[in-house]
Amino acid sequence: MRRFKLLGLCISLLLVLTAMTSPVKAKEAVINTEVLNVRNGPGESYEEIMEVHANETYTILQQKNNWVEIQLDSTTGWVVTDYISIREGGASADKIEVSTNKPTIDQVILSYDNTHLRSGPATQYEITGYADKGTTFEVLGETEEWYEVKNKDLQGFLKKQFIQDETETTSSGIENKTIVIDAGHGGRDVGAIGVSGTYEKNYTYRTSLELKQELTVLGANVILTRPEDEFISLGSRSSYANIAGTDAFISIHYNSTPELPNVTGIGTYYYHDQNKELAAYVQKELIKETNANDRKFTFGDYFVIRQTFKPAILVELGFLSNKEKEQLLQTDAYQKKLVQGMVNGLLKYFANK
Ligand SMILES: [Zn+2]
Repeated sequence: MRRFKLLGLCISLLLVLTAMTSPVKAKEAVINTEVLNVRNGPGESYEEIMEVHANETYTILQQKNNWVEIQLDSTTGWVVTDYISIREGGASADKIEVSTNKPTIDQVILSYDNTHLRSGPATQYEITGYADKGTTFEVLGETEEWYEVKNKDLQGFLKKQFIQDETETTSSGIENKTIVIDAGHGGRDVGAIGVSGTYEKNYTYRTSLELKQELTVLGANVILTRPEDEFISLGSRSSYANIAGTDAFISIHYNSTPELPNVTGIGTYYYHDQNKELAAYVQKELIKETNANDRKFTFGDYFVIRQTFKPAILVELGFLSNKEKEQLLQTDAYQKKLVQGMVNGLLKYFANK
């Protein structure tokens, strides 16, 4: 009897030790789109070497910005993170190389409740924990947009914009501001039609709802010119903005040029000169967040921004006439980037006013 007990104890101990010393799990990329090009380097300009397909899973070897290198049968290649989800893989000796730089600050304090910590420096990484406004972390490393942090309860990656020390992106400037979001088209006016027959009105609506949600979290008062899929005249859209104590009006659109299917990119338009600054901030942050082709901020003679006598811009967030982009624009991950870009642009605009 006694011998068995001892044996049991030994096995338990062995199990505990094994668990403690088991290798770090590798990250895996799960492909989220039907066909995804694999390239021989981390960028669109690198050569395509093969294709991977929906739901296939590959071990991630390293990450550079929004590209990851994956292990293929006999070689390795790079895919863009927009079309994959990243998850913890099975046990493996390889640990993903997330290279962070030496931090420029020692400590950070969270600016918002319910801030996500992630297992790596991109929103595709899984959430490892939540922390509230005022929580303090030691900074272990940083990338351009993320801090690697830890405190006695949690460790992970935090997006820099959620940190108080980033004075240029604190919420102070946006709190209680009235922002009117104008989802382009609606009802019988479907807007542009995508390569696969999708309607611009549905994209603009989806983006507007998500943007509303994010801005509301930051304390802004948000008004939608069309709260559902209905036809609203251009005049009513501007009237909303002119009547309300509007601090910023943003009209959301997507583009289409079926005769030029390779054209892509994001552009922001202003009509009145005094709105150049708002256009500049939003455009800059949209490009920073999405890496999309930069179509710049320019004068645009659109009714809704011409007839709105409050700070007003119109954004064209992408081309539905480009097959790849039409697909990309439907992903949650990319929609989040678009929204984040606009939020960051508005934060900077209000912080610098
Ligand atoms: Zn439109």
